[in-house]
Amino acid sequence: MEYILSLIRDVPDFPKPGIIFKDITPVLGDPKAFEGVIDALERRLEETRVDKIVGIEARGFIFGAALAARMGSGFVPVRKPGKLPSLTDRVTYDLEYGSDALEMQIDSISRDERVLIVDDLLATGGTAEATAELVRRRGGKVAAFGFVIELGFLEGRERLKDERVISLFKF
Ligand code: AMP
Repeated sequence: MEYILSLIRDVPDFPKPGIIFKDITPVLGDPKAFEGVIDALERRLEETRVDKIVGIEARGFIFGAALAARMGSGFVPVRKPGKLPSLTDRVTYDLEYGSDALEMQIDSISRDERVLIVDDLLATGGTAEATAELVRRRGGKVAAFGFVIELGFLEGRERLKDERVISLFKF
C-alpha cells in the first residue's frame, strides 16, 4: 500500500487556484499498483453482496469497471447530462458555487438490486450522495460506497453515513 500511496500525485492549483488535485494517473500507469488497488477494494468488500457497481464519470469508471469484472457484478455508468442514450433519470446537486447534474439509464438498476457506488475520490460527498439518489429512485439498495482516496477534512463520510463507506487512502 505504501508503494501505491507514493504514486498518488498532488497537483496544486488544478483545476482551480487553491485546489490540490489528487492525480491517480501514475497509479493507473503502473500495472502492479493498479492491480493492488483493485485487490484492496475487493478485499474490503469481501463480505458485501453486490449485484451492480455504479461508477461515476470519469475516474469512477476506471476503478468501478475493473472491480466489477473482478467481483462478477454488472457495471453501470453514471454520467454528466446528455452523454447517455435511451431513457435516463437526472439528479441535480449543489456545488460550492452553482449546481451540477448526473444521469443514469432507467433500466440499468432493478428493484432490490444491491449496488456498490464507486469513485476515485470522496471530497464533500455531494457527487456520491446524488448518485445514491439515482439508485434509490430505481428501487436499488446502496450496499456500500467505495473510494480509492478520501479527503477526511471535508467530512464527506458524514453525508453518506447511513451506508458503509470504504476508502483505501485517507488524507
Ligand atoms: P465531492 O462531490 O465533493 O465529494 O467531489 C468528488 C468528485 O470530485 C469526485 O468525482 C472526484 O474525482 C472529484 N474531486 C474533488 N476533489 C478532488 C481532488 N482534490 N482531487 C481529485 N479529484 C477531486
